[in-house]
Amino acid sequence: MIGAWRVSEVRADGVVLSDGELIPSGLVVTPTLRTRDPDIFALCDCASCLREGHSTPVPPRTQAAHQQASHLLARLRRRRAGEPLTPYVYRDFGSLYKMHEYARHGGGKTFLGSLGRRLARGAEPEVKLH
Ligand SMILES: Cc1cc2nc3c(=O)[nH]c(=O)nc-3n(C[C@H](O)[C@H](O)[C@H](O)COP(=O)(O)OP(=O)(O)OC[C@H]3O[C@@H](n4cnc5c(N)ncnc54)[C@H](O)[C@@H]3O)c2cc1C
Repeated sequence: MIGAWRVSEVRADGVVLSDGELIPSGLVVTPTLRTRDPDIFALCDCASCLREGHSTPVPPRTQAAHQQASHLLARLRRRRAGEPLTPYVYRDFGSLYKMHEYARHGGGKTFLGSLGRRLARGAEPEVKLH
């Protein structure tokens, strides 16, 4: 019955349907991004990755997603070569838009975009006129 699939509440431990049924959730990964199943890994927004010395997990941001993907790709290659997994460590670079721009558009466009913005800034009035 379709009505039974309505979500009435989203909680930290799961999703409650309108008929009261709780669908448990919560994908907490180990520092190596492993789930409970040693052959299944989770990253980015779908993984709650705890950090040593912090009370909050790795934030659900693009840079974390990017870092975790790069980390996992390298570690899975090493794992296939029989090497042990090493933990992921989040590095907060702040809101570095340029890194995102570089990853998406490459060095050439990022450079030209930065140059264009710098030149445009030089031509702007010091006081906003409108
Ligand atoms: C409105 C908004 C603004 C944000 N602003 C910022 C910001 O300014 N800075 C920042 O760092 N982060 C920002 N974030 C967070 C950032 O977008 C996420 O942390 C990041 O995109 C997570 O990457 P991800 O790969 O986990 O998920 P996503 O980028 O969401 O990628 C998941 C992909 O899986 C696909 N998918 C889903 N289900 C299926 C399926 N069943 N089969 C196949 N494919 C599927 C989706 O189409 C999607 O392409 C923002 C998020 C939102 C929603």
